[in-house]
Amino acid sequence: MKLGILSRNSKLYSTRRLVEAAEQRGHEVRVVDPLRCYMNITSHNPQIHYKGDILDQFNAVIPRIGASITFYGTAVLRQFEMMNVYPLNESVAISRSRDKLRSLQLLSRRGIGLPVTGFAHSPDDIDDLLATVGGAPCVIKLLEGTQGLGVVLAETTQAAESVIQAFMGLKQHILVQEYIKEAKGSDIRCLVIGDKVVASMKRQAKEGEFRSNLHRGGSATLCRITPEERATAVRAAKVMGLNVCGVDLLRSNHGAVVMEVNSSPGLEGIENASGKDVAGMIIEFIEKNAKPNRTKTKGRG
Ligand code: ADP
Ligand code: MG
Repeated sequence: MKLGILSRNSKLYSTRRLVEAAEQRGHEVRVVDPLRCYMNITSHNPQIHYKGDILDQFNAVIPRIGASITFYGTAVLRQFEMMNVYPLNESVAISRSRDKLRSLQLLSRRGIGLPVTGFAHSPDDIDDLLATVGGAPCVIKLLEGTQGLGVVLAETTQAAESVIQAFMGLKQHILVQEYIKEAKGSDIRCLVIGDKVVASMKRQAKEGEFRSNLHRGGSATLCRITPEERATAVRAAKVMGLNVCGVDLLRSNHGAVVMEVNSSPGLEGIENASGKDVAGMIIEFIEKNAKPNRTKTKGRG
């Protein structure tokens, strides 16, 4: 097969591993910087131009679109979908996953366990909002934060009120969430491919930190997950419409709850912690599923 990887940097661990795995399995692969793709959207014959070439050779594309380029990156992916190229994850599903509020609404509609979460627009509603999530301590999040940046733990009601006021003053949309203290700074990353959790790891925040993100100094270890956790992760991926994703669970007193679903999960932490060839499994999934016209949404919706 001819595969394209939409990634800004071919030196990143995940991109390198996907290239390696694809070549090992006999595929031709090219890394394409989505920000250098340009296209004519009014043409009857949708095309993508790239550094003077026309990209019409791919059977499938693997989007590795960073959170900072979601808008342009998903537009490029949508164009590939219009050309009937199989996307590992569809543009619509990626857009959904980038908005924490939209994701939680989708997941809650399908009855998936979530931390109690609220959102509001007006500073006048802060007190009520805090009451609905059980008061302080609580977690306050920017809707489009990533790598732990934009996630704050407010220990007291006073702190929560002033942080919420500050974000609202900056015209930032936020959500307020029950703090799952019993998780003790850890969460479980489940790497889902298709309808299976192929690897999982426990991430533990460093001393004095509540965020377990590896980018914030967290550490990863292999962990076993329960059949319920496995089923929850697979259902969450399905609801989001993602073929490959990282589903993050918090182990709370009321069972495992989904904290977020990541549509471009990093491979370094999970491959190292699990010792598994996740990149190889992703390529294998594409081999089984990539056929023209397999895009469900063709970028619609
Ligand atoms: P990001 O997209 O920036 O990774 P997350 O929602 O995943 O944002 O939050 C970052 C980290 O903060 C999580 O990995 C987790 O360790 C911690 N965290 C987030 N929400 C909660 C919560 N409700 N209770 C306890 N810890 C949380
Ligand atoms: Mg996270």
